[in-house]
Amino acid sequence: MIRRIDLRGAAAEGAAPVDYRAAVPRAEFDVEAATHAVLPIIEAVRTRGLDAIRELTEKFDGVVVEDIRVPQAALDSALAELDPAIRAGLEESVRRLRATCEAELEHDVTTELGDGARVTHRKVPVDRVGLYVPGGLAPLVSSVLMNVVPAQTAGVTSIALASPPQKEFGGLPHPTILAACALLGVEEVYAVGGAQSIAMFALGTGPCRRVDLVTGPGNIYTVTAKRLLKGEVGIDSEAGPTEIAILADDSADASYVAADLVSQAEHDPLAGAVLVTPSERLAGEVEAELDKQVFATKHTDRITTALSGAQSGIVLVDDLEQGLDVVNAYAAEHLEIHTEDAAGWAARVRNAGAIFVGPHAPVSLGDYCAGSNHVLPTGGCACHSSGLSVRAFTKSVHVVDYSREALAEVADHVITLAEAEDLPGHGAAVRVRFPSVVEPVETS
Ligand code: NAD
Repeated sequence: MIRRIDLRGAAAEGAAPVDYRAAVPRAEFDVEAATHAVLPIIEAVRTRGLDAIRELTEKFDGVVVEDIRVPQAALDSALAELDPAIRAGLEESVRRLRATCEAELEHDVTTELGDGARVTHRKVPVDRVGLYVPGGLAPLVSSVLMNVVPAQTAGVTSIALASPPQKEFGGLPHPTILAACALLGVEEVYAVGGAQSIAMFALGTGPCRRVDLVTGPGNIYTVTAKRLLKGEVGIDSEAGPTEIAILADDSADASYVAADLVSQAEHDPLAGAVLVTPSERLAGEVEAELDKQVFATKHTDRITTALSGAQSGIVLVDDLEQGLDVVNAYAAEHLEIHTEDAAGWAARVRNAGAIFVGPHAPVSLGDYCAGSNHVLPTGGCACHSSGLSVRAFTKSVHVVDYSREALAEVADHVITLAEAEDLPGHGAAVRVRFPSVVEPVETS
């Protein structure tokens, strides 16, 4: 079901260096491979607007939609009919997420550089955002919260949200997704999925005005559209098909490790599930557990495809030091640590979208109710990108406020540096403010 990758001995003295990132590969059908399919979708939306969205929706979602905007009455009735237990779960998730968002919100910073010389680093919320909530394989209601709560906490005033239309719900997104939108007061919701929804947000199509920033997770087509439209629109990160890596030693419980690998493989046939361990005992027991657990769960086909794909494996290493190098090179979306002194090993991880410490912090907790965000970079992007947070919805601007005297203090340096760059106009723009003074500029 899951292959073994044996890296033991690769770190031994004198051994040829091994590229751990290449040794633990991703899925063969990746963002680059999907570009071929997604470019024509973007061009169709760019040139033919709403007509193209309707055609693509019929083709990929099997639904004919006349009006892509979800009526307010549908949002209201979805909330009225929401199962109270699901509502309680959503409310708890929102409460925890809002607490971390409020704590993580950055505030303005003013630095006094001298008398009358002040620079303020001002945080400004993005004006208008487009939030994507997956709904092709599973209705990810939790992604409504993960997108909306940080956007609202940051102070974004214009929020639009899109999720694929569902045949069995009359061409609307899944009712639980609509209920979560209503619970959070989001009124602008579109029944559009995948790459065409990202294009709609980025370009402004039909009833949807162009947005400044698109956030949210999605499948390979959705994430490829984000990459291709980046620049025309801001994006959070490439949050594509899910990945889990687990760094574990002989103290780990094989049934927990296997259950957590299965839980993420359940997302997508392209999901990656990787165990990195020096323990032969654990590797064998996890393989046996997978054989049991995969066939006892609902989405066996999807999970089997993900676990037996090139993107999944049990990686055997000499020790946890080598294991740490492997997981840092792999830069997983989710990294669990099941070792003695898990917190100590976690502190040494540099590259991961989110780190889950010890046996009682499974990724499923983070998917719903930890208070952390589940929209996380995949495909190795965790070595340069961060997961979604309240900070993704703000930008900063330096505000430079100098008095005449404060400018005079530094004027000679500005003029000298402008001359060094052969840009005399820059120096002149300072001199012109002190017409009575021949060099050097002095404070009055
Ligand atoms: P989705 O909602 O992004 O995609 C559904 C859309 O894909 C459909 O509406 C359709 O338009 C489009 N599509 C389907 N087949 C196509 C094709 N052949 N060509 C072009 N477009 C096509 O996603 P989903 O399918 O429900 O899967 C959810 C994904 O989100 C999973 O991969 C999951 O792992 C991922 N996810 C990632 C994170 C993260 O933070 N990285 C978090 C949660 C979920």
